[in-house]
Amino acid sequence: MRVLVLSPHPDDEAIGCGGTLRHHYRAGDAVTVIHLTSGERGGHGLSPERTGPLREAEARRAAALLGVDALHFWRQRDGALRSTAALLRALQEVLTSKPVQRLYAPHGGESHPDHRATWRLAKQLIQTLELTGMAVPELWLYEVWTPLQRIDAVVDIGTDMAMKLRAIRAHHSQVEVLDFAAASRGLARYRGELLSWPEGEYAEVFQVLKP
Ligand SMILES: [Zn+2]
Repeated sequence: MRVLVLSPHPDDEAIGCGGTLRHHYRAGDAVTVIHLTSGERGGHGLSPERTGPLREAEARRAAALLGVDALHFWRQRDGALRSTAALLRALQEVLTSKPVQRLYAPHGGESHPDHRATWRLAKQLIQTLELTGMAVPELWLYEVWTPLQRIDAVVDIGTDMAMKLRAIRAHHSQVEVLDFAAASRGLARYRGELLSWPEGEYAEVFQVLKP
């Protein structure tokens, strides 16, 4: 299987679906991640000029841990991400050259506006593909800032949890300020206990839109 992940900022890919990406890697699937912004405004005191390259370096380390095949930085403005016609065209070109069976993006109820913009982009991409008769991937929506309420898919990430946590911690500049690894571990444990019973200790959950 070939999958594409739309990540608004470096760290969303690891927090939202890092365990599932590692699962894809173990299954021999090809994973591409596009970071739409480089999170340059999340420097917590560091200038955007220094933060962008730092976070891209962190994203490269996280990608290596998760087994990501191809990593791209599209360097849209952090905090001002929009679903534009230009981005839509660029994504269409990516999918024309390499069709994917599954697309990952944040869900539409996320509290961060850049995450909602990424969700709009994903939805518009699916609509465009449908209109042009191109192969339409399943859209798997992940949770980062706001827990999902409608859950369609549960992925047991027990085997992949350790690597997910390492990938989150690779985003050092962010984990220093907020312990996303602990938060993510807590949520995955909750999802695992309630939804992946009896054996799943940790799980990631998704809202799924099928073509
Ligand atoms: Zn984010």
